[in-house]
Amino acid sequence: MKYHLTKYYKLLVIFVCTTLLVFSSQVVIAQSNYHFGTPGKQRVQLIVGGDFIVTMNEAQPVIENGAIAIRDGKIVAVDTQYKIMASYRADRTLPGDGMVLMPGLVNGHSHSAMVLFRGLADDLALQDWLENYIFPAEGKFVDENFVRVGEQLACWEMIRGGTTTFVDMYFEPDVAANVVKECGLRAIIAPSSIDFPSPGFQGWDDAFASSIDFLKRWKGKNERIMPALAPHAPYTVSPEHLVQAIQAARNYDVPLTIHLAETQAEVQDVQERYNATPVKHLENLGFLEPRVFAAHVVWPNESEIALLAKRGVGVIHNPDSNLKLASGFAPIPAMLKAGVKVGLGTDGAASNNVLDMWKAIRLTALIHKGTTLDPTAVPAKTVLRMATLGGAEALGLSDKIGAIKVGLQADLIQVQLKEPHLLPLYDVISHLVYAADSQDVDTVIVNGQVLMEKRRMLTVDPERIRREATSIAQRIKAQFRTSN
Ligand SMILES: [Zn+2]
Repeated sequence: MKYHLTKYYKLLVIFVCTTLLVFSSQVVIAQSNYHFGTPGKQRVQLIVGGDFIVTMNEAQPVIENGAIAIRDGKIVAVDTQYKIMASYRADRTLPGDGMVLMPGLVNGHSHSAMVLFRGLADDLALQDWLENYIFPAEGKFVDENFVRVGEQLACWEMIRGGTTTFVDMYFEPDVAANVVKECGLRAIIAPSSIDFPSPGFQGWDDAFASSIDFLKRWKGKNERIMPALAPHAPYTVSPEHLVQAIQAARNYDVPLTIHLAETQAEVQDVQERYNATPVKHLENLGFLEPRVFAAHVVWPNESEIALLAKRGVGVIHNPDSNLKLASGFAPIPAMLKAGVKVGLGTDGAASNNVLDMWKAIRLTALIHKGTTLDPTAVPAKTVLRMATLGGAEALGLSDKIGAIKVGLQADLIQVQLKEPHLLPLYDVISHLVYAADSQDVDTVIVNGQVLMEKRRMLTVDPERIRREATSIAQRIKAQFRTSN
């Protein structure tokens, strides 16, 4: 008995000592965690929340009460707020009460600095508008200062409306790229080359050589700024120059954008000159491939739509511009059905007259129902995809942007859901497409950097831009005949 008692006593002592040892080691671990941070939580720079996250990721399309953790400009986690807050601690948190959090909008076609020609000439046919107003105005007024102020105004407008990536097809690309660098947006900057004199150039040769110099200066320089080539259109650039452009795009491994099949007049003109419709003409030149994305494509025939899908060419639909210039209705339902990569764009503000993607989203959702007499054509979800991931695919950027997914860049917007036109709420995607507008964009983030917070601009100076834009417009008004 005595022996047994001694044995039990020893076991008890061992048990108590072990328990104390384990307990004290836990205290040490907890204390060291307390010293270095919250226990078990990974550190990130930013956590952004939303009552809903619309991800554009098929695996988890909408997350209620969600949050995103961001480190070094990239999305590192997407989950419910509860799980994100339990696993991460952030230098900064942007809560999302009453907000939807979604990928930033991708504006696949614009001529940004043309905002300074906004309202200069309206209600004209494309050729009259271009030849008698826009080209002469550009010849007279576009210079470095014009593009600097115009680009700043455009970036301010686009950030306000939730655009986080845009394509800029215009002049003075170094000036444009530096403005984009400062304001924090992401852009493909594609200097326009054309066969006749344009601002700063005699014709194709010097314009194109200057585009190549721009590529060399900017390729790989800044991850938000991607240089590209932009021969204007098949009716303004000769076949030899088009071939020169696509070969250079391959050599330098950059995207190429072009206006294509915008009007019936263009189709007729190209047919007469080259005995082929515009898309076929480019196919005959060996021009069509996935690095190419074309603006408009209002007048392709059925076999050309199949060809665009087969060659992986991106198409940017610009409904506002096509309606305003009476170019027609692009066959978007047929293109989507054929598997063409379709994104949305605003075109330049001279033919829109705003760089507002929400208007393009709403128009896209409505006009194709009207033209096909089919209310199921181009549903809300499809349009929202075109404005985000679809656009990223068309531009060849879907490995970086367009969705909310771990590993992609943190290009995000918070859109408020509290104003009367967004109440009540049954379906968040329906509201984003049919009811929301650019004023509802509350906060904008690109590459993890906050560019607008609660409608307050953080990277541009609105007062200065307003002053400078007004002063340039006064000079134009004094020296130029407008249509209005
Ligand atoms: Zn255009």
